[in-house]
Amino acid sequence: MSYPVLRNKTYFIRTFGCQMNLHDAERVSGLLDSCGCLEVASPEEADIVVFMTCCVREAADQRLYGQCSSCKSLPAPPSGKRVIAVGGCIAQRDGEGLLTNLDNVRVIFGTSSIAHVAELLAQAFEDDERHVLTAEIDEPGATSMPWHRATSYHAWVPIMTGCNNFCSYCIVPYVRGREKSRPFEEIVDEVCGLARAGVREVTLLGQNVNSYGRDSYGSPRFAELLRAVGETGIERIRFTSSHPKDLLPETIDALAEVPQVMPHLHLAVQSGSSRILKLMNRRYSREDYLDLVRRVRERIPDIALTTDIIVGFPGETEEDFEQTLSLAEEARFAQAFTFIYSKRAGTPAAEMPDDTPHEVIQERFDRLVHVIEQTAYDFNQHDLGARVPVLVEGVSKKDARRIQGKSPKNQTVHAPVPEGIDPADLVGRIVDVDVDTARTWYLAGSIVGEAR
Ligand code: SAM
Ligand code: SF4
Repeated sequence: MSYPVLRNKTYFIRTFGCQMNLHDAERVSGLLDSCGCLEVASPEEADIVVFMTCCVREAADQRLYGQCSSCKSLPAPPSGKRVIAVGGCIAQRDGEGLLTNLDNVRVIFGTSSIAHVAELLAQAFEDDERHVLTAEIDEPGATSMPWHRATSYHAWVPIMTGCNNFCSYCIVPYVRGREKSRPFEEIVDEVCGLARAGVREVTLLGQNVNSYGRDSYGSPRFAELLRAVGETGIERIRFTSSHPKDLLPETIDALAEVPQVMPHLHLAVQSGSSRILKLMNRRYSREDYLDLVRRVRERIPDIALTTDIIVGFPGETEEDFEQTLSLAEEARFAQAFTFIYSKRAGTPAAEMPDDTPHEVIQERFDRLVHVIEQTAYDFNQHDLGARVPVLVEGVSKKDARRIQGKSPKNQTVHAPVPEGIDPADLVGRIVDVDVDTARTWYLAGSIVGEAR
């Protein structure tokens, strides 16, 4: 459909939260591009400002209010009129309710209404009314709408939406709905097309990719999907997130046997205390998790294991927390996203007694970060002296003569650009790096041979 009023309008998208949101933002961007809009680098220059929001933690809610109100003091945009739109999880959760506090917002669209964003924006330019759409109306296949990828060499590929797990602290299942898997063949065809278009790496996305297929095929088909995607010609496959309770032996086999699947597993543990895991409704114990890690390492000895951990869940004691510290040491995480628990209204954990003082939680959080820094440093030492294939993402922020990229284990790698080579020519290509430095958050070394 075409919307003449949108032609040549400039737009800016700011995205918060997880990879699913990053991909949703790429779909909004793809739709606006197809309507003749032009992306710009700042809200000042934009006729359309879109906020793709996240509601997993409270801080993100507050940031949205700040960002919307700061739009009020921006200079007038090129077309003379600026339309502000809010999408993503907060839009889905609050819908019209958001308009009470955000008086300059004209469009609200939910996580299942992305296909309608252009229509809503066009109406707002024409009538200056407020337009809200949060009903579940995206037809099947909406996940395969045109999209505008941030890079030419990597693509996010959603394989399912929603979540059935209802971890007691988490708002996601209430906002994003139940698990819905995309058809197997559609995903494989999409990755084939991406590989033909020159994409080197895909990340398969879902809240719990291990249960991919359970809703539509009756049993999980993730291992089979990994094997089929491995046959498409794509060189690197990553995936996230993976729930420990659903990681099947056949998936560990696929990880070990499909060469295109990178040796990196993000397996959120959340806590090292079986008591807290039970209260979190995670449906595995500390022992189950460590046993799983042992089985994964038996098949893929130097896999990079990364995780998510929440500190300060209601009622967490010092003893519970120490169990988390010791699990982090035993599991030898290569990296971890650590979060302070944030109370989300409507979730069971929000009703649990929660009397640990904030200073105690902050002090525990700092101790955990320290342990993760140590395990991450130790993990990187194994690659000292190794030759590592690096997918180049760009130049280092600090030094334009150094490239920055990712190893198979998802480590950041830096190396000086060889004499006579334009760094821009290396972006999206794979170079071998001989590693001579291994720090906590990166490896460094020198490029050997030709880029490919
Ligand atoms: N589905 C993914 C999984 O279970 O691995 C996680 C998706 S969630 C968007 C990302 C992370 O946010 C979770 O793994 C958890 O650590 C964290 N998180 C979720 N709810 C939270 C809350 N209420 N407070 C703090 N962190 C939270
Ligand atoms: Fe939230 Fe748990 Fe679902 Fe992850 S698995 S999205 S933490 S409910």
